[in-house]
Amino acid sequence: MGTRKKVQAFVRVKPTDDFAHEMITYGGDNKSIDIHLKKDTRRGAVNNQQTDWSFKLDGVLHDASQDLVYETVAKDAVSQALDGYNGTIMCYGQTGAGKTYTMTGATENYKHRGILPRALQQVFRMIEERPTHAITVRVSYLEIYNENLFDLLSTLPYVGPSVTPMTIVENPQGVFIKGLSVHLTSQEEDAFSLLFEGETNRIIASHTMNKNSSRSHCIFTIYMEAHSRTLSDEKYITSKINLVDLAGSERLGKTGSEGRVLKEATYINKSLSFLEQAIIALGDQKRDHIPFRQCKLTHALKDSLGGNCNMVLVTNIYGEAAQLEETLSSLKFASRMKLVTTEPAINEKYDAERMVKNLEKELALLKQELAIHDSLSNRTLVNYDPMDEIQIAEINSQVRRYLEGTLDEIDIINLRQIQEVFNQFRVVLSQQEQEVESALRRKYTLIDKNDFATISAVQKAGLMDAEGHLVGEPDGQSFGLGVAPFSIKPGKKLRSKKTLKDQFSSSARKEGASSPVSGKDLDVVSISKTQLIPSSRDGDVKDMLSRDRETSSIEPLPSDSPKEDSRPLSTVI
Ligand code: ADP
Ligand code: MG
Repeated sequence: MGTRKKVQAFVRVKPTDDFAHEMITYGGDNKSIDIHLKKDTRRGAVNNQQTDWSFKLDGVLHDASQDLVYETVAKDAVSQALDGYNGTIMCYGQTGAGKTYTMTGATENYKHRGILPRALQQVFRMIEERPTHAITVRVSYLEIYNENLFDLLSTLPYVGPSVTPMTIVENPQGVFIKGLSVHLTSQEEDAFSLLFEGETNRIIASHTMNKNSSRSHCIFTIYMEAHSRTLSDEKYITSKINLVDLAGSERLGKTGSEGRVLKEATYINKSLSFLEQAIIALGDQKRDHIPFRQCKLTHALKDSLGGNCNMVLVTNIYGEAAQLEETLSSLKFASRMKLVTTEPAINEKYDAERMVKNLEKELALLKQELAIHDSLSNRTLVNYDPMDEIQIAEINSQVRRYLEGTLDEIDIINLRQIQEVFNQFRVVLSQQEQEVESALRRKYTLIDKNDFATISAVQKAGLMDAEGHLVGEPDGQSFGLGVAPFSIKPGKKLRSKKTLKDQFSSSARKEGASSPVSGKDLDVVSISKTQLIPSSRDGDVKDMLSRDRETSSIEPLPSDSPKEDSRPLSTVI
């Protein structure tokens, strides 16, 4: 994984009695093929035109049996599909050169069966050899003809394009074809009969629609999903292997066709050149956009071309001199493909259900571990379960008593309890903040900071300085100067103890110290965007305010009320 790999490009030469020995020669290692074109055989050739070509490939299959072709071309890709790597094996070449023979093979002779049935055999054989895994196999068979999609395994009688046209859909898991039937096959025989059905449909379709089957692209896909049989393995792998029999690559000009045939040829030429563009773009690491959607073929193969897949190309060629032009063009295609690099990667997924089960097991084990640990350290009766309401209420009460000073320490029991203690500190504090706020509301009139009219009235009355700070009352007893966030909690000097309340009290003190004025119980009188001014004692201000805006309807509490004084705000906090 992670290593870049080249597209594997093989050439298979169709056996012939009329092999053009003087024009086609193979390298000694069977990995190169040289083409020599005699000038006079090349019509209209001018002197300086190239007449010799040498193609380096991954293998030249000449007079090779179906068996050898499978071993050389497909075996590794299929085997890796079982390990989670997507793969695509495709046959390219002019009509009659042997693509279908290579891919499907001759159905009448078992020995001549092609890559498709052999791949299915290999898959089921490997599944048998892997009893540690539960592997499911599904297959589908898609035909693309003139940019229309056909399901060759449709359970409905084959009547041409399906009533609801199939569409290519993309999701984070990959590309799939909506409407294409995907068949679960639990054994080789099922898969074979589906393949046979597909081949039959392909032939029927070519008759009923008067279309030449070599004018369509056929994609047989084997989907695999492998789950480990051991419960502990949360990962599972999915993969698919596409076996593609492409439409004939012959050039349009040569056939001199018109009408329907012209239309077919145009579609084929386009889709094959888009296929080439897409594969080349995939091999270019600088390219971030790959033109997959230009045609159905590349779009349907999007997650199986180049990229993270194993890719194998078999170029089928004729060995006769008469076909040399097409042979040359096919070999050029092959050598361009060979340059493309891919980066095969495993399609690993996670089984959520298994993950939960594993986590539950782990949790139970850890609880046991904890119980053993507690009993060894004589800590019995420690409960680690989530707390109920009663337990939380008890902690709340402890926190209150601690803050009031009636409880000296809060014993640490476990982490959950510590967290709850902190939580209850927050709860109690926010309750007390609210209490303070409403007490202050009762005592002072609130002025919105943006209420300039009131502020200027207050300033006129000398209650606020030019910077917006409130000026204290002449006796300086009730409040001082300054504006500070209300969240500041001055006040109670928490007793210093080497317990967890230390942290709490020290931070409270630190914050309190940042108040502009210290040493007084009630220094800080600002609530977010509002400011407070005394509302009861200064008749002038009250009069002034009532002229501009409605004053608070809350009855102000006398600031010297013994009850209030005995419970100064600072001690409440
Ligand atoms: P294509 O699909 O490329 O149009 P086919 O696979 O249909 O070509 O081949 C055309 C004919 O040649 C078929 O009758 C096929 O059986 C035969 N043929 C092709 N390749 C071979 C081969 N390697 N050995 C024997 N017969 C072959
Ligand atoms: Mg064919």
